[in-house]
Amino acid sequence: MECVTHSYDDSVSQKLFERAAAVTPGGVNSPVRAFGAVGGTPRFMVSGRGPYLTDADGREYVDLVCSWGPMILGHSHPAVVEAVQAAVGRGTSFGTPGEGEVVLAEEIVDRVAPVEQVRLVSSGTEATMSAIRLARGFTGRAKVIKFAGCYHGHVDALLAAAGSGVATFALPDTPGVTGAQAGDTIVLPYNDLEAVRTAFAAHPGEIACVITEASPGNMGVVPPRPGFNAGLKELCSAEGALYVSDEVMTGFRVSRAGWYGLDGVTPDLLTFGKVMGGGFPAAAFGGRREVMAHLAPAGAVYQAGTLSGNPVATAAGIAQLRLLDDDAYRRLDDTSRQLRALVTEALSKEGVAHRVQTAGNMFSVFFTDAEVRDYAGAKSQEAFRFTAFFHEMLAQGVYLPPSAFESWFVSTAHDQAALDRIAAALPSAARAAAQAEEGAVA
Ligand SMILES: *Cc1c(COP(=O)(O)O)cnc(C)c1O
Repeated sequence: MECVTHSYDDSVSQKLFERAAAVTPGGVNSPVRAFGAVGGTPRFMVSGRGPYLTDADGREYVDLVCSWGPMILGHSHPAVVEAVQAAVGRGTSFGTPGEGEVVLAEEIVDRVAPVEQVRLVSSGTEATMSAIRLARGFTGRAKVIKFAGCYHGHVDALLAAAGSGVATFALPDTPGVTGAQAGDTIVLPYNDLEAVRTAFAAHPGEIACVITEASPGNMGVVPPRPGFNAGLKELCSAEGALYVSDEVMTGFRVSRAGWYGLDGVTPDLLTFGKVMGGGFPAAAFGGRREVMAHLAPAGAVYQAGTLSGNPVATAAGIAQLRLLDDDAYRRLDDTSRQLRALVTEALSKEGVAHRVQTAGNMFSVFFTDAEVRDYAGAKSQEAFRFTAFFHEMLAQGVYLPPSAFESWFVSTAHDQAALDRIAAALPSAARAAAQAEEGAVA
């Protein structure tokens, strides 16, 4: 996959990637950054401003990854930068409580009605791991239901793929996760309420919680079918289990109150990350006071973190959330709508089978005719067409997520000029997708 041909220079990125590979496994600190799914050399970025990124070779890209969602105001937003600089000037970590944590928690509680109390952590992984622990501690039960294709960070118990059939106990998805760690995880097909009902019936009084992405974005964008989340909530309530909504990606991205703001289904616990950190490591989990009260030091379920509620991260998060008012979400929706129309127009013109699926301002492009409702559907797309499409967009200065199974992200900084650049790149990328052949090297 190394012989991607293009007419521009990426030699600085190539050299950095070689140095990185010598000292870091695979040359990256998070796997999808390595371009494994699309081939070629990952671009090492040196700066970002508004909707643009600049790489180490000096090329500029319109950024449609936005750090996988957090940079919802664009890069280097002046208000966020100013808040961060002020916070750094006051000292960067105290290991004591501070006002920033209180203000950020109040902002989250104010926005998301089901969140009465919240605990700050440093990554989405920590948030979901802790929420699961709390659900188990609160219910005194062991088993967890998750859905195939939903990603909740690299939590041992949640790195499990579906076995065949309904309610099969999960086999670990990765070496290093033991059968014991994944053995209490039940993996079901997404959007299949009947499978959830069957699993509850098979394990009465044993299921601590159902965890689901509020609207999945980690198998590409696959929104819940009408009534799915409400059905999950109803089943959980009836069975004494907790409904845990993972809003690490959707939280404060798709509306002021995240996906909850769009579907109104009340979870027992919610998890947040990405946008709430303003580009810094800040995440959270929260929910009903009665459940959260079980967390140490108020309750017995242990959870802690040296850098939790870090003053610089909370300053960035507060500054970012304060700018995300209804008007900002309207603009994000509008930009996303325009961009989707441009993509559809270009692909249709070349006769490329595709389907754009949306969740608020998040969307992804599946290279298939059929509606994608679950992970099996997502995997049945012609991903090789995405590879060709991706590389042509990259060559023309548009940075897409380097995988066909990811959401695209816009920011409030994506203006007409940025959209025009994308529009200019799309026709030849659509042609490349049309001409792509299965099995060809990128
Ligand atoms: C990104 C993500 C996570 C993990 O967050 P990290 O900060 O990468 O640990 C968990 N759940 C969902 C839905 C995510 O999109």
